[in-house]
Amino acid sequence: METAKHKSIELITNTEVLNVEGEPGRFTVTLLRKPWYVDIDKCTGCGACVEVCPIIVPHQWDRNLKPRKAIYALFAQAAPLKYVIDRERCIECGLCMQACGLDAINLSQEPYEEQIEVGAIVVATGAEVFDPSPMTRYHYGDSENIVTNMEFERICNAAGPTEGELVRPDGKHIHSIAFVQCVGSRDLNYNPWCSFFCCMASVKGGRLVMEHAPGAEVLIFYNDLRACGKGFEELYQRSVEEGIQFIQAIPSVYENRTTRNPIIVYEDPRSGRMVQKELDLVVLACGLQPSPSTRDIRKKLGLKRDSYGFIKERHPIDGVAETAFKGIFIAGICQGPKDIPDTATHGSASAAKAGGFLSGGSSSTISKRSGNEKDDSS
Ligand SMILES: Cc1cc2nc3c(=O)[nH]c(=O)nc-3n(C[C@H](O)[C@H](O)[C@H](O)COP(=O)(O)OP(=O)(O)OC[C@H]3O[C@@H](n4cnc5c(N)ncnc54)[C@H](O)[C@@H]3O)c2cc1C
Ligand code: SF4
Ligand code: SF4
Repeated sequence: METAKHKSIELITNTEVLNVEGEPGRFTVTLLRKPWYVDIDKCTGCGACVEVCPIIVPHQWDRNLKPRKAIYALFAQAAPLKYVIDRERCIECGLCMQACGLDAINLSQEPYEEQIEVGAIVVATGAEVFDPSPMTRYHYGDSENIVTNMEFERICNAAGPTEGELVRPDGKHIHSIAFVQCVGSRDLNYNPWCSFFCCMASVKGGRLVMEHAPGAEVLIFYNDLRACGKGFEELYQRSVEEGIQFIQAIPSVYENRTTRNPIIVYEDPRSGRMVQKELDLVVLACGLQPSPSTRDIRKKLGLKRDSYGFIKERHPIDGVAETAFKGIFIAGICQGPKDIPDTATHGSASAAKAGGFLSGGSSSTISKRSGNEKDDSS
């Protein structure tokens, strides 16, 4: 939101980077500006068009837990807060045009290409969350009460499908919950790395459930609980004292077809006995992995990948915000898993490095970029 208001920042949204050419300090970036079908200079985000639109589809932003219309704003804090039309769903009934007093809707907008000149580039395209569907032990997709951490985030969010009320997708209040850690992470069959944020995100989620529903039963099944970071060990200890049960076991999950409750099955690490427990909700703490979008931009820029597919930094200690190409920097989880504080630190480092480069200050990058180099990776 602050970025959108900053007088020195121009936000170019709904746009794809098609190509980058040139040399450090003078890059020509070719953009594909996609149509909004709404004139965003006129649109005030009043929402009158949404009221009248007859098309209702699941909202992907809310992990399909909430509906949206064919004309919609991506989410409540979107910057800029402007409306866009999903042309694949729009039936061109024209009701939104009649409702818009500012004549902002324009169904005949077309995509167009544009070139801009920039001195430096910071890639901050993020990562994607692991899809647990192939892991049959969790029966994700068989039960609406076995959800991913991404879906749980939306359930907890005040602007989410339940407006922050802690109810599961079938409407029942959540009084017992289990988080299953390392789903898709630290697993040689899927991704071997630690995704870094998920242990503490589940501790935070568990605490939230206890705040909303005092006396709630919260179980966290972990592999090794990773509470590294300032104040995190203390938060973990406090959570143990306040009643969150941390169980070192890798469980299986399936649904009780009668109650629709998930049942978690695990070997109790103390007694060695198999235990079955029926709960209101199970959250799979899915990890992070390189996204197709980051792979695509990495290839367009001719950047190297690390052995996992994240963008490779110039040096793991004194060059984490830089790439091997002068003038091209990286920030956030496109370089590897991080939580928000580490992402912010990384972003600040990248911005400082890019600023130093643009002002002619020292830069320790090692080689000149030579166009869209062929990459060995998939
Ligand atoms: C379920 C979940 C819960 C989490 N909870 C916590 C938590 O409680 N605390 C915490 O500290 N961290 C948490 N994290 C981690 C946190 O989300 C990340 O650290 C942070 O989002 C990383 O920021 P980023 O900007 O690098 O990437 P992202 O947040 O992924 O942002 C990348 C952006 O780039 C855009 N983009 C992608 N490709 C392109 C392209 N080609 N062109 C233009 N734009 C593009 C994307 O649309 C996106 O907006 C959580 C993560 C998940 C998945
Ligand atoms: S398109 Fe018109 S009616 Fe819809 S939000 Fe924008 S200004 Fe309001
Ligand atoms: S942060 Fe925790 S849950 Fe996430 S991958 Fe690492 S150990 Fe597993």
